[in-house]
Amino acid sequence: MKPTFSFEFFPPKTLKGEQTLWNAIRRVEALAPDFVSVTYGAGGSSRDRTVAITERILTETTLRPVAHLTAVGHSVTELRRIIGRYVDAGIHDVLALRGDPPGDPQGAWTAHPQGLTYAAELVELLKKSGSFSVGVAAFPERHPRSPDWESDIRHFVAKCRAGADYAITQMFFDPEDYLRLRDRVAAAGCDTPIIPEIMPATGFDQIRRFAELSSAAFPPALARRLEAARGRPEEGHRIGVEHATAMGERLLAEGAPGLHYITLNSSSAAVEIHRNLVPGRTPSLLTAA
Ligand code: FAD
Repeated sequence: MKPTFSFEFFPPKTLKGEQTLWNAIRRVEALAPDFVSVTYGAGGSSRDRTVAITERILTETTLRPVAHLTAVGHSVTELRRIIGRYVDAGIHDVLALRGDPPGDPQGAWTAHPQGLTYAAELVELLKKSGSFSVGVAAFPERHPRSPDWESDIRHFVAKCRAGADYAITQMFFDPEDYLRLRDRVAAAGCDTPIIPEIMPATGFDQIRRFAELSSAAFPPALARRLEAARGRPEEGHRIGVEHATAMGERLLAEGAPGLHYITLNSSSAAVEIHRNLVPGRTPSLLTAA
């Protein structure tokens, strides 16, 4: 099957950010990706913006939007209400996540007293609530809270068996991590497609912050190259695009079912990587939404 290509955006806080987002969405639209996804904030008004942006993508573009949704701070009743809004808007694609504690993502996880504890329960809720295509998260370097690989894979497989149609990984920078995860999941008897997430590492400081937040290991050689390019953003961009393109080539050659690019709402690096990997792809190849 032809690999899918998709792009991830986040809900911006300001009007200027909103304009930047829509410029990026329009550039990506011209590439006819298989879908685009919109992340869900840790709390507050950004959550409403996720819902609103997803609805607007559906109604005003040719793109197929996937809404991220987390269980953080929501009762089941609230989750049902959000899911109902997606059903009403005609959105049938949700990435079901547990989420992290607000404020301190590394802090102790506490479920809402009337809420859900694990992403698998949200997958079940979505599947019961409508004809949703549901994605889940996968972790090439193991979920930071998982005490060992055995439990990590067991819970991942349970999440797939709860009804997940596909998974998207956390960012990572060494293709071997993805390939090992895929082998472990396959060895556990699970064939849910796992789409690798590609994060263009174009700046030393930015990528260090993201890697810390996601616990992703950063290859020392790439870190040294980006550090040497500090203060020269064009060189950082070139290095990041080169590394991500090489990763994408390897992952596709190894049979990855697609690539999901993080855009940070500024699509230039992601679009460049995509063009390097799939030079001939035209809008006529748009997957039916
Ligand atoms: P789960 O699958 O519930 O797993 C969490 C931990 O619990 C794991 O260690 C797992 O092994 C363990 N576990 C699962 N089931 C059980 C069980 N029955 N018993 C014991 N332990 C169990 N966060 C956001 O806030 N907004 C976003 O938009 C967002 N988008 C993301 C997109 C992607 C592609 C990825 C990879 C992550 C995203 N995240 C997002 C982050 C995610 O919410 C966190 O990484 C969170 O800590 C884990 O979510 P999960 O859905 O994998 O949780």
